[in-house]
Amino acid sequence: MQIVIGLSGSSFHKQKRTKAQRKTKIRVMVRVISYYSHGTMACADPYHIHLIPFVDIRCLTIDHINGDGAEHRRKSKVNGATSQWLWKQFRETGKWPDGFQVLCHTCQEIKRIKYDMKKKKLPVQAYI
Ligand SMILES: [Zn+2]
Repeated sequence: MQIVIGLSGSSFHKQKRTKAQRKTKIRVMVRVISYYSHGTMACADPYHIHLIPFVDIRCLTIDHINGDGAEHRRKSKVNGATSQWLWKQFRETGKWPDGFQVLCHTCQEIKRIKYDMKKKKLPVQAYI
């Protein structure tokens, strides 16, 4: 009887590949955030909630400025993260697509709430 300790061949390579893919994903995210934050690597802070620039990359996201993210993802067949799609566009055309900015999760959520309240015709200014 053979006792296998550790990972089998395919599992080992799968784990290795996943780690490499994770590194590539982070590298892409850094490049995309760097471009769309104009080199600041910070949230655009459209609601002036940050006392100092918010630079934690783990909580930074790519935002569709016009709020048409769902429509854009559907039309452009964005499969997965927008940052990966932006990087692919840049590699293929040499140009970064317009209409995006960097926001932190909190600013994204405020934007979403404001959008929802506007849609329901609730007084947005009273809330935010
Ligand atoms: Zn923010």
